[in-house]
Amino acid sequence: MAFPESFIYELKARNDISEVISNYISLKRRGRNRVGLCPFHGEKTPSFNVYDDHFYCFGCGASGDVISFVMKIENLDYLDAVRFLAQRAGMEVPDNSYDNSMNNLRKRIFEANREAARFYYRTLTSPEGRVGLDYFRRRMLTDATIRHFGLGYAPDSWTALSDYLIGKGFKPDELIAANLSVKRRSGKGVIDRFRGRVMFPIIDLRGNVIAFGGRIMTNEKPKYLNSSDTPVFKKSENLFSLNNAKNTGSRALLLCEGYMDVISVNQAGFQNAVASLGTALTSEQASLMKRYADEIVICYDADEAGQKATARAIPLLRDAGLNIRVLSIPNGKDPDEFIKSKGADGPAAFKAIIEASGNDVDYRLQKLRADFNLSTSEGRVGYLEACAKLIADIKSPIERDIYVSKLSKKFEVDKNALNLQINNLSNRNKREDRRREMRKIRSELNGTNDKIDKERHTKLRSTSAEESLLAHLINNPDSLKAIKQYISAEDFQNSLMKRYFEYFSGRIESGLDPLNNIAADFSDDERSRMYQILSKYSGISQTPQSLYENIRIIKAESERPKNTADMTGEDISKLFANMKKNKK
Ligand SMILES: [Zn+2]
Repeated sequence: MAFPESFIYELKARNDISEVISNYISLKRRGRNRVGLCPFHGEKTPSFNVYDDHFYCFGCGASGDVISFVMKIENLDYLDAVRFLAQRAGMEVPDNSYDNSMNNLRKRIFEANREAARFYYRTLTSPEGRVGLDYFRRRMLTDATIRHFGLGYAPDSWTALSDYLIGKGFKPDELIAANLSVKRRSGKGVIDRFRGRVMFPIIDLRGNVIAFGGRIMTNEKPKYLNSSDTPVFKKSENLFSLNNAKNTGSRALLLCEGYMDVISVNQAGFQNAVASLGTALTSEQASLMKRYADEIVICYDADEAGQKATARAIPLLRDAGLNIRVLSIPNGKDPDEFIKSKGADGPAAFKAIIEASGNDVDYRLQKLRADFNLSTSEGRVGYLEACAKLIADIKSPIERDIYVSKLSKKFEVDKNALNLQINNLSNRNKREDRRREMRKIRSELNGTNDKIDKERHTKLRSTSAEESLLAHLINNPDSLKAIKQYISAEDFQNSLMKRYFEYFSGRIESGLDPLNNIAADFSDDERSRMYQILSKYSGISQTPQSLYENIRIIKAESERPKNTADMTGEDISKLFANMKKNKK
């Protein structure tokens, strides 16, 4: 049973969508809408639109009402998103037995993960987990740290965890969905996904165990194995230990390379450390960090892989609007090694190098020097040109001016010449960025909408009239009676549009707001397609003339003879009878 309509209606009325979204991103008014940088994909020019009752991103197709927004940004299921908004508005959630198989599965995965984390933790301190505990001890982790992070050990057995969880009442399907178990090759039964590894639980911001990372204790590959994406976990959208880091109140995060760095930096007293999960940093993770921080200190290893990762992370973090500093650790050590090498002074020494770290532009200008021979004129010109390119990417004019001044002094070149070069490059960058984004928008949106609505290409004419009619209907529910005098759901040629029409006319006839319950009644893709239609027609005034024109097209398309392939024997004999009649 779902929530009463009246409750959802009040919930939405009391949680103004622009107000809720403004807690996550900054919105600017543009005409009747508000726009901002999409929190769900990386972008430089805003394509995220907030309307009176819904949001729609022209870049990635993310869309929905205020409930869908909270579901997406807080990684909550429907029920918890409703609770979240009710709490925000000081409303009581009516008692009900809301039930939905996806919500149940998510709940079961959370429970299975929690049981698994307990199982791994207990195994670590048992004789079976000795090899894991020895490993953590060698890395000088204290018992308190092991407990704090809930570290564990997955026994070197095919079915230890699966058997244990099935004994606790979990179904094999649930364990597969949680990615704790995988199907046997033979197809019969399941085996453990993590075996013979020390385990790092990944915990979301509400304290749910959402996934695991595991490091193998032998020389086998892969060294690190992470949970695949599941209904409760997206690797590209989560960060290790953000649940700890978000509470420090420092507005700065230390971005480390892996689990062990984060943990050892934490043990040294820096709780604001996070790491991406076994993959290169993504723009989603950068947006996520922006919600909790203004400044990121990149603490990657000094080796080549670490430096490459640094170079890749800088533009992503900059695009998210974060200030960046790059830690340079003496003697090419990683943070863990550095802290340990200083013994009891480790924490203080680490703090000192954080404070001494330069920003990302200094870091990159410094790195560039190695590519040029500055003792020759050609080398100096080449270096300055490369610097101009780098500075052209900086958005703040004040910041740009600082580097231009520094370089012009140091190399005794005219500041104006340097500025001219930079401005040309920067204008070209802007044009290219815009073009690239537009291309991306088009291809991504087409991808999503094709998946859910293939017919829009084959039934172009009817789909377009049906879209326009639906938009009109939602904005003017009173027009339903008039529309129904001429057409019914049967006249719709596009089956998705037909479903929308049936859904909305059913709700309007029952005296309900057409969009009130949309988060519960449609899938993400179905919702996205519909909000795309509403956004397309938002601000376009639809006159009675355009409405009747659409009705006329829908009716005509519905009565048009179909392809012979679609015709029944009866259709064909009718057609022949007509042709004979016409001949006479
Ligand atoms: Zn987007």
